[in-house]
Amino acid sequence: MTNLETYADFYRQSIDQPDAFWTEQAKLIEWKRPFDRVCNYDNPPFVQWFEGGQTNLCHNAVDRHLTDGADRAALIHISSETGVEKTYSFRELHVEVVRMAASLLALGVGQGDRVLIYMPMLAEAAFAMLACARIGAIHVVVFGGFASGSLATRIEDAEPKAIVSADAGSRSGKVTAYKPLLDEAIRLSSHKPAAVLLVDRGLAPMTLLAGRDHLWHEMREQNLTADVPCVWLDSSAISYTIYTSGTTGKPKGVQRDTGGYTVALTASMKHIFDGHAGETFFATSDIGWVVGHSYIIYGPLLAGMATIMYEGLPTQGMDGKPDGGVWWSLVEKYKVSIMFSAPTAVRVLKKQDPALLSKYDLSSLRALFLAGEPLDEPTARWISEGLKVPIIDNYWQTETGWPLLTVANGVTPMQSKFGSPGVPMYGYRVKLLHEVTGEELTAPNQKGVVVVEGPTPPGFMQTVWKDDARFVKTYWTSIPGKMVYNTFDWGIRDDDGYYFILGRTDDVINVAGHRLGTREIEESISGHAQVAEVAVVGVADALKGQAAMAFVVLRDTSLAADSANALKMAGEIMKRVDGDLGAVARPSRVLFVTALPKTRSGKMLRRAIQAVCEGRDAGDLTMLDDPTSLAQISRALNH
Ligand code: AMP
Repeated sequence: MTNLETYADFYRQSIDQPDAFWTEQAKLIEWKRPFDRVCNYDNPPFVQWFEGGQTNLCHNAVDRHLTDGADRAALIHISSETGVEKTYSFRELHVEVVRMAASLLALGVGQGDRVLIYMPMLAEAAFAMLACARIGAIHVVVFGGFASGSLATRIEDAEPKAIVSADAGSRSGKVTAYKPLLDEAIRLSSHKPAAVLLVDRGLAPMTLLAGRDHLWHEMREQNLTADVPCVWLDSSAISYTIYTSGTTGKPKGVQRDTGGYTVALTASMKHIFDGHAGETFFATSDIGWVVGHSYIIYGPLLAGMATIMYEGLPTQGMDGKPDGGVWWSLVEKYKVSIMFSAPTAVRVLKKQDPALLSKYDLSSLRALFLAGEPLDEPTARWISEGLKVPIIDNYWQTETGWPLLTVANGVTPMQSKFGSPGVPMYGYRVKLLHEVTGEELTAPNQKGVVVVEGPTPPGFMQTVWKDDARFVKTYWTSIPGKMVYNTFDWGIRDDDGYYFILGRTDDVINVAGHRLGTREIEESISGHAQVAEVAVVGVADALKGQAAMAFVVLRDTSLAADSANALKMAGEIMKRVDGDLGAVARPSRVLFVTALPKTRSGKMLRRAIQAVCEGRDAGDLTMLDDPTSLAQISRALNH
């Protein structure tokens, strides 16, 4: 029996006998009340896992370890921006989470209320997430790099009772004050939170609004000896929502349950990450992304591992000076056994002195997991030769919550293939379908759309927050005649059953592992008074995977007639995107044309623009409305 067949047995059981399989996995966590039904799929595509069961995410991540591991490290907070380095044991983490939970309760937050968390990578952000889980409040973490416009849309949609934030974030020594951005976002939103709880790190002055704004260090002081028990929640109770971009401008609130997510993450720590209690896990993402939720906060803690929460660049040392070896120094110091990062970060490190990889004792490290964007072979080879540990590509999405394609070395050692994230994970019925006919592509090496058949496994999104209809319409009805979950990614499966991901089928782009909707950027740019029309496309970028590029038609084309004016207009447009969405979404270039390539029926040919930008053949152009438009794109690029 080859290794793959051993995993194949495991996988087959998850598909053929899901109730038995997931009942077994559910034993990995503690339940207050056992469930009476494993999987309720009476109303597809909605799934309810572990119906009738009651549990709590915070109990399993924190309290549970107090009996046998209270003094073990739980949260290691490190900031190379402020020089802070502090380890919280499970006992200490528990105390801080309880104080935060007591503070939230005092601010009027109750079960089912939303708490929006807009914070840099501070330990208090972890306390806030876990405190919400403790009292049954729904956390909504918004990436700290987003600006007022993005934040306002999310406040409007989530309608939070309270917001937890901080005075400022810091990146490469540059301080960004959060409080003014937050105040502006609240001003823009028609929903107003009743309370704002602020962590003052002493980086930027804050003006407090009496009655609404509260300081964490004061509330903490008032709740030093508080005792807040975990609220036992129904398995299907919402644990959190996280916003992600799609084809339309309006971000979607991806909603997750409690029981299914707790089981899914705990099982993934065992079967996929092969992490053990007492070891250290280091995920380099940010709490604003799904990887931060699943593998900075919950996954490692559920497994009884210590987790490193790191604020800072991979190229900046604890003294604030450039140091391309800072991550490896942490691996040595904290004996990290599992690391999780993104290909972009590795491409950044590739530019550093390779000697940095051999400067530290990395013998504790067993594997590096990479996700978020395609992993190119040269990057994979470089880091695998440098670290001498397996590099494990894994493919998933905000919607799935945990890897959909990878290898499960915790089940049995499996072969990885360069360029492929791997095989379908247990519980996922992955298929490739023909884009137009919707027919299943069963033969190997055919390109199709990657889809998942229901019932989707535990941990998968429940629905779109407040919008079941959008969940069904967006994800489950896009393939003619079939109700399947569409990942909106192209894929190929080889003869051995390994998948290769070939990019998105929609207008979503991936910049440095962050998902951005080109439509959102277009909407921001269109808001500029001088802009008549705009197309934003993702163009291949050696470092970031993709970069956003904007092609703009101005109302008065003479405004960009000479290069000085064009530069000024481009600057204004970029500033606008910074203000609306944040610098992550800022196009790398803004170029001016007088017409955009469209079909005669008015459909923008984004793929043709992208092809021209990448120096590829733009394909069949007979349907092009204005034949000069593509030539204009290539001229603008070469200017
Ligand atoms: P997000 O929800 O922001 O994590 O983005 C998910 C998208 O990132 C997927 O739909 C893919 O397009 C891309 N992606 C994530 N992981 C991988 C991977 N390992 N290989 C290729 N693409 C990936």
